[in-house]
Amino acid sequence: MKYVSTRGQAPILDFEDVLLAGLARDGGLYLPESWPVLDRDTIGSFAGRPFHEVAAEIVGRFTGGAIAQADLSRMARDAYSVFGHAATTPLVQIAPGVFVLELFHGPTLAFKDVAMQLLARLMDHVLEKRNQRATIVGATSGDTGGAAIEAFRASKRVDVVILYPHGRVSDVQRRMMTTPVEANVHAVAIDGTFDDCQALVKGMFNDHAFRDRVALAGVNSINWARIVAQVTYYFVAATALGAPHRQVSFMVPTGNFGDVFAGYAAKRMGLPIDRLGIASNTNDILPRAHATGVYDMRGVVATSSPSMDIQISSNFERYLFEAGGRDTATVRGQMQSLAQSGRFEVGGAMEAWRQEFEAASASEAEVADAIRHVQGDSGYLMDPHTACAWVALGKSQLRRVAPDVILSTAHPAKFPDAMEAITGIRPGLPPRLANLLTDPERIARLPNDLAAVQRYVETKANERVP
Ligand SMILES: *Cc1c(COP(=O)(O)O)cnc(C)c1O
Repeated sequence: MKYVSTRGQAPILDFEDVLLAGLARDGGLYLPESWPVLDRDTIGSFAGRPFHEVAAEIVGRFTGGAIAQADLSRMARDAYSVFGHAATTPLVQIAPGVFVLELFHGPTLAFKDVAMQLLARLMDHVLEKRNQRATIVGATSGDTGGAAIEAFRASKRVDVVILYPHGRVSDVQRRMMTTPVEANVHAVAIDGTFDDCQALVKGMFNDHAFRDRVALAGVNSINWARIVAQVTYYFVAATALGAPHRQVSFMVPTGNFGDVFAGYAAKRMGLPIDRLGIASNTNDILPRAHATGVYDMRGVVATSSPSMDIQISSNFERYLFEAGGRDTATVRGQMQSLAQSGRFEVGGAMEAWRQEFEAASASEAEVADAIRHVQGDSGYLMDPHTACAWVALGKSQLRRVAPDVILSTAHPAKFPDAMEAITGIRPGLPPRLANLLTDPERIARLPNDLAAVQRYVETKANERVP
């Protein structure tokens, strides 16, 4: 299977190169040349199977045979053995016809573990085969950094350096990055904002000599393998609720559009999904674009669901490419307009987008109300990201014909301050994380200075070369 860039001017690559490359050289994102489609019997056979078995089957459809199926099965079994629930991603019913898909049973209590745990194993496998090493550099506003450090801490071939804004992530989020003791993972507090951290990462990727010297690789949400790994839970949840004999709808707390795009991919692969819902918080660029046809950037507002506090929804470019008939010239024009003026017209992709998706945002007051209301009615405690999806579902204009699944992307204990402010109760960490708040931390602190950060990254990468 081959992969093409949304901007049409990068080399066509196979799965392994796409896995290591992340972003395409023309600035675009990679997508498969054509979608693998599963027949109804295959989809039906997923019902009741262990999560890791379905994961190996799904990912296997995208590798083009580059990774042996037995290796894939072993990596998937390994990746999901670290989850704290036997079902990996259990479904919980909270109202008539409404289910919560809990994606937060991984080591860092957010859904990013589902993809990152498998991605780390896939990368190690490919690097081992090629006898290469790689250095992952990433910026995080909270969840991605911890998930990456947790996933790669056992890696023999990858060094990870995560930059986060000093003093601007929660204690739980910081400790998930700073308490792992392995020598290949590094959390760096930058004297600056999240945007500064992102600019430093971009600066490192744009310095091609540096990029080659340390074999820079990316694991942010535009990495195609992360999206593929997320497709699994759409199949697992839908078949548990009666697919392919019955349609299912999903409402997804959305930031960078990676998670909901995985749902779109599942639909293209033959899963009978009725509606895909985009739920945002106050940072509602996608619901506004869905209503008006104009994607228009504004400043970011801090909310109780910080992982969705975004200005640019990177993976939306993948959907523009698909819904616009894979017209790369149009995508290039839209992205150029975004870079120049902070806005673009969704244009010809609009009709498909309105048909296949719905979108709504949740205000801070609505999120707090929803958390209290659901807890009172059913005893179920949702985190603020999940609550955005509950609110968006309530605003849905469409007739409900299918069971609705709300994706729960974080455990409430990951955001104890917000939860305490809303409910009056501070949720406790699961027992397996009992030592997180007392384990010693290891933090490097660096100025917001590209040269200083590059020196640090190169030193750390060189220390580990055998
Ligand atoms: C990353 C994240 C999201 C947003 O997911 P996208 O794939 O970026 O749309 C939502 N909730 C939580 C808790 C997250 O960590």
